[in-house]
Amino acid sequence: MQLQSLWSAVTPELDSFANRPLPERADVVVIGGGYTGLSAALRLAKLGARVTLLERETLGWGASSRNGGMVLTGHKHGVGEMMQEFGATKAHELWDASLAALECVATLVQEENIECDFARRGHLDLAWKEKHIKHLQSAHELLYHEFDYPTLLVPKTELRNEIDTQMYYGGLVDERSAGLNPAKYVRGMARAAQRAGADLHDGVAAEAIEKTANGFNVKTARGAIAAKDVFAATNGYTGRATPQFQKRIIPIGSFIIATEPLDPKLAQQLIPHNRMIFDTKNFLYYFRRSPDDRIVFGGRAAFFPETPDTVRESAEILRKGMLQIFPQVEKYPTAYAWGGTLGFTFDIFPHAGQMDGMYYAMGYAGHGVALSTYLGRQFANRIAGQEWHNPFEGMDFPTMPWYSGNPWFLPFAMSYYRFMDWVA
Ligand SMILES: Cc1cc2nc3c(=O)[nH]c(=O)nc-3n(C[C@H](O)[C@H](O)[C@H](O)COP(=O)(O)OP(=O)(O)OC[C@H]3O[C@@H](n4cnc5c(N)ncnc54)[C@H](O)[C@@H]3O)c2cc1C
Repeated sequence: MQLQSLWSAVTPELDSFANRPLPERADVVVIGGGYTGLSAALRLAKLGARVTLLERETLGWGASSRNGGMVLTGHKHGVGEMMQEFGATKAHELWDASLAALECVATLVQEENIECDFARRGHLDLAWKEKHIKHLQSAHELLYHEFDYPTLLVPKTELRNEIDTQMYYGGLVDERSAGLNPAKYVRGMARAAQRAGADLHDGVAAEAIEKTANGFNVKTARGAIAAKDVFAATNGYTGRATPQFQKRIIPIGSFIIATEPLDPKLAQQLIPHNRMIFDTKNFLYYFRRSPDDRIVFGGRAAFFPETPDTVRESAEILRKGMLQIFPQVEKYPTAYAWGGTLGFTFDIFPHAGQMDGMYYAMGYAGHGVALSTYLGRQFANRIAGQEWHNPFEGMDFPTMPWYSGNPWFLPFAMSYYRFMDWVA
């Protein structure tokens, strides 16, 4: 078993962006080289801005090359919760933005010729317990009546058409969602940003950001860059350079395994429509077929960010979970195991806006492939004085007293959510 992401292993490496000369000035400094940062840098460069992007590790190193590759409609909170929390108008705005985000990915992939196995296969949300069916049913009805958006409710008796397992009680299909190879996508985005003239850097961390009369001074170990604007795009890896965001982001580990390639007939039998699949647990499983017919199976097996030990432990837990659902794959060993860090927030909504003069977009809570691409582009438009849209504008970005970025409460939260999965 290799302790690395399947996606990175099968994707050609990028040329190195290390040790390139840093400019003394830029119009915009983007911090973080994942989808959020690269989408912003690409758009800014196309709009003629002098944009410098700093990535502490290598471009795409964070969640953007390691995720499940599920490009989903909606947000982490369902439409019912959004209606309750914000009322109909805002819930509509958030829902519509999620659809626009998906289209933003599709358009980018097409316009920039990014070969990343993008395919609209739809997603399937599965009821882990019989009583969870009513959640799926009310989402189905609300989406249809309030949002004019069709989904397909699949009863247990017909679930075989969607998935070959006895473990679930029904499902909800949304045909619009898509799948892709996340590493191919982020590396393709980096190449597109480079082609457009963005100044990209690997191995350069923003260490501190000072406000100046004309904007900001971004300090790095290799000197400072003066910039009119700064865009923080660091999500789950937000650190000390931006303490105002660090105390609002909760880094949570999420882990994935991928089997050896299955016999294509078996892969087709297990997940016939090749959908992106997840379930209704708090400690949810998310899984899919890879383009070469492996089972890619993820979950929040441990809450803590990835280390070789947490990856190994999680791989064992996830394999048991996968075999519970698909005993048919027992003879296919786990070939890859990896983890990445999610950026959660205290209200489990993404947050994007301007704080202390600095722009930011983060907190996608494991639902960010589409939205990060979209928000990166929207903030580029905003910074360059173009028309923009931010559905999260003006939302309070909460923190908690005594919290500065070290999530000491995760073991308690973990026990609580395990308990809730047991009783609810
Ligand atoms: C295991 C896993 C599975 C997931 N599955 C899905 C999925 O299937 N579908 C979905 O929609 N979403 C999924 N997500 C979430 C999705 O991957 C993220 O929302 C998305 O990649 C966020 O992109 P980003 O650019 O904001 O952050 P990232 O890609 O995490 O990039 C942030 C970057 O900032 C850099 N950085 C941090 N601090 C500094 C600094 N001071 N200076 C310079 N650079 C810095 C980091 O090195 C990092 O590379 C998953 C996430 C994980 C971890």
